[in-house]
Amino acid sequence: MDYTHDFEKVRRIDKKIVYKLWDLGCDLYFEESLAHHVNFRLGGNVPLLIVPNNKIGLIETLKLLKCEEFDYRILGNGTNIIPTDKSKDFAVISTERINEVRIKEGIVYASAGVSFKSLCLAASENSLSGLEKAYGLPGSVGGAIYMNAGCYGWETAENVVSIEVFDGNEIFEMKPDEAKFGYRNSVFKNERSLIILGAKFRLAHGKKDEILELMTETMRKRYEKQPLEYPSAGSVFKRPRPDFYVGTAIESLGLKGYQIGGAQVSEKHAGFIINKNNATASDVLKLIDFIKTKVKEHYNVELETEVEIWD
Ligand SMILES: Cc1cc2nc3c(=O)[nH]c(=O)nc-3n(C[C@H](O)[C@H](O)[C@H](O)COP(=O)(O)OP(=O)(O)OC[C@H]3O[C@@H](n4cnc5c(N)ncnc54)[C@H](O)[C@@H]3O)c2cc1C
Repeated sequence: MDYTHDFEKVRRIDKKIVYKLWDLGCDLYFEESLAHHVNFRLGGNVPLLIVPNNKIGLIETLKLLKCEEFDYRILGNGTNIIPTDKSKDFAVISTERINEVRIKEGIVYASAGVSFKSLCLAASENSLSGLEKAYGLPGSVGGAIYMNAGCYGWETAENVVSIEVFDGNEIFEMKPDEAKFGYRNSVFKNERSLIILGAKFRLAHGKKDEILELMTETMRKRYEKQPLEYPSAGSVFKRPRPDFYVGTAIESLGLKGYQIGGAQVSEKHAGFIINKNNATASDVLKLIDFIKTKVKEHYNVELETEVEIWD
């Protein structure tokens, strides 16, 4: 494809927007496959992937796209997303370079793009305790706040003191009760105009060796039980009620290893679907529907996905 001479004809985005984004210092990727950016390694193209290089760049990008009425999605580390195979009409803004960590008197500020693992490591280096059970949680700080990620009895909301939010017009500090945290839920899931810029976490002083030991123990549990060696988006379904273990239920139906196209119910953990062999999003979505039907038939339980489907 020769796109050197006629920008508008081959790009699905206005040249004026592109020039403004370059002026803001963003890196731009045109007709970018989301498969390169989500952990599941599948999904169609977006007309533009925008990578702002600092927080101001991110804010100005958000203002610009709002003003131009160009639809967008925010991408953290892409560990909880299934983008469908078709080409999208929206741009994607990555927070990967918005990654500052500051620590003062037991309060850790981390901006949205900081990986949760880096946050846990920064806390441990400073002998701060509270995030040990989160060590190994894939994804970014923004993604963890967005869905109140949790594991091993710990939830993101537990340590949050405040969240730095941009609402399209201004930046403000949101208190945890305003964030309406619930099980894998927060206000950000329902209000897409609210963008998480960062968050402050309260941690307690502890003994570094004990913190590190618990972190290592947590990480071991993960790689012993979860198929980390394959692309996935983690647990596919929410737990419908506290006493219903989705993985166990799927396993009881003999579905471990069940495959549609390149997507497979993990043999290691039936709550995970893995990209076993060049799966498409369509393979994964068919497998999700199949599992939902079987679980409904046998347990009369409606499963809801924990992963986000970007259509
Ligand atoms: C192997 C594996 C294990 C996992 N284990 C767990 C687990 O134990 N517990 C758990 O809860 N989850 C788990 N997950 C799911 C996932 O890691 C978490 O949900 C994580 O918090 C998602 O973060 P992310 O940065 O990857 O978000 P993304 O996948 O990039 O995005 C998820 C959603 O958050 C939104 N978002 C991201 N950043 C922002 C922002 N700054 N402002 C507004 N919206 C934003 C996105 O638009 C999107 O809608 C696992 C996933 C994998 C692959």
